[in-house]
Amino acid sequence: MTACFVGLGANLGDSHRALIQAAQDIERLSATTVTGRSSIYRSAPMGPQNQPDYLNAVIAVDTALEPLALLDTLQFLEKKAGRVRKEHWGPRTLDLDLLIYDTVTLQSERLTLPHPGLIDRNFVLRPLADIVGEQWQLQDGSTLAQRLKACPDSDLSDSSLGWSLPESEAMSA
Ligand code: ATP
Ligand code: CA
Ligand code: CA
Repeated sequence: MTACFVGLGANLGDSHRALIQAAQDIERLSATTVTGRSSIYRSAPMGPQNQPDYLNAVIAVDTALEPLALLDTLQFLEKKAGRVRKEHWGPRTLDLDLLIYDTVTLQSERLTLPHPGLIDRNFVLRPLADIVGEQWQLQDGSTLAQRLKACPDSDLSDSSLGWSLPESEAMSA
């Protein structure tokens, strides 16, 4: 089993439900376990500003899937959630980024590891730090705390949403 981190984001439709569903779907994959979940954050959009705020989170995953097989699966789950690819960084019902796959570094057409956005996005670093702590070191030896300090200051707040739907909403699922 390999330890990985997956970044979750959504800003179209019922984003809270989409994040919960994605974490559940990943947990249900064969030879895959979700071992940690960050808080769920609200963040201002990157790129085009004429779109709703995002919900963002990170989950820790142990998996026997190889990196490309895991990416395939994440992209399948994005499709299942109704994702349509239009403009770059445009609004989406679900975005699943493979942030870290153990110590693997890779640069191929389909997959770059670690994910290039990891080091300068507070909506990725902050939730990752929820799981591993701010003193955790990235591959270049920098800590999450250092990366967070150096990060462009963009709006990020704890949404105070949990990893299950409120009972009233769950009833109408
Ligand atoms: P960003 O990658 O800057 O966060 P994005 O998430 O909006 O932007 P997408 O449209 O979701 O970008 O993905 C574009 C392509 O990125 C995908 O088709 C995928 O093949 C590729 N990709 C490369 N490395 C990764 C990775 N580590 N995790 C997920 N996708 C990746
Ligand atoms: Ca992304
Ligand atoms: Ca993506």
